[in-house]
Amino acid sequence: MDKNIRGTLSFYRFLKSDLLIFAVAYQAARSIGKFAFNINLKMINIILFGPPGSGKGTQAAFLIEKYHLIHISTGDLFRYEMGNDTPLGREAKSYIAKGELVPDSVTIGMLRNKVEAHPDAKGFIFDGFPRTIPQAVALDQLLAEKNAAVSGLIALEVDDAEIVQRILLRGQQSGRPDDSNESIIRFRLEVYKNETAPVFDYYAQKNKSHNVNGVGSIDEITARLSDVILKFEKE
Ligand code: ADP
Repeated sequence: MDKNIRGTLSFYRFLKSDLLIFAVAYQAARSIGKFAFNINLKMINIILFGPPGSGKGTQAAFLIEKYHLIHISTGDLFRYEMGNDTPLGREAKSYIAKGELVPDSVTIGMLRNKVEAHPDAKGFIFDGFPRTIPQAVALDQLLAEKNAAVSGLIALEVDDAEIVQRILLRGQQSGRPDDSNESIIRFRLEVYKNETAPVFDYYAQKNKSHNVNGVGSIDEITARLSDVILKFEKE
C-alpha cells in the first residue's frame, strides 16, 4: 500500500519536473522562433521611382530575377482591372485616359490587397507606387505592420524630351491610349513634377532616396541600380 503511494508520489514529482522542463523548453523555443522570425522579416523593399517612361518596368524585370522580390506595378494592376472591365478598372479608366492619378483611396486599397496576398515575400519592388505623399505614408504604415520598412527609393533620371520620345514609341507598339497622345504625356509629366516628385524628398528626409542616371543601355542602368541595392543589403 505504502509502496503504491510512494510510487504514485514519485510519478507525480517526475511528471511535475517534466512539465517544468517542457514549459521552459517551450518558452525558449518560442523566443528563438521569434528571434529567427524577426530575422526573416529583414525584407528588402525597393521603390523604383522616376517619371513615366523612365524604364522602371524594364529594370524591375531584372531585379525580380536577381533578388527574388515580388514586383508590384500599380500601372499593370490597373491595366489588368481595366482589361477585365471590373468596377475598379472602370473607375480607374476615367482618370488614366486623361493622364490623371487614380484617387489615393482606390490605389492604396488595391496595393494593400496585393501586398497582403504575399505574406511570405522576401521583399517587394514597388513600381509606380507611391505616387503621392499620402500613398508614401500608407506604404510606410503597411510595411511597419509587417515589422519591415522601405529599404530605399531609387529614382531613374531621364529628361523630358527623351521621355516623350520613348512613350510615343511605346504607344505605337502597345496601343496604350495614354501613351499615344503627346499632350496627355506632357500632362502626366506635369502631374509627376507636382504630385509625385515630393515623394523623393519625403524619403530623402529619411536618408533613403537615391538618384540613378536612367539614360544609357539597359545593362548599364542595371549595373547602376545594383550598386545602390548593394548598400541596402548591407544595412
Ligand atoms: P507610367 O508608364 O506612366 O509610369 P504606369 O503604367 O505606372 O505609368 O501607370 C499608368 C497610369 O495609371 C498613370 O498615369 C496613373 O493614371 C495610374 N496610376 C498608376 N499608379 C498610380 C498610383 N500609384 N497612384 C495613382 N494613379 C496611378
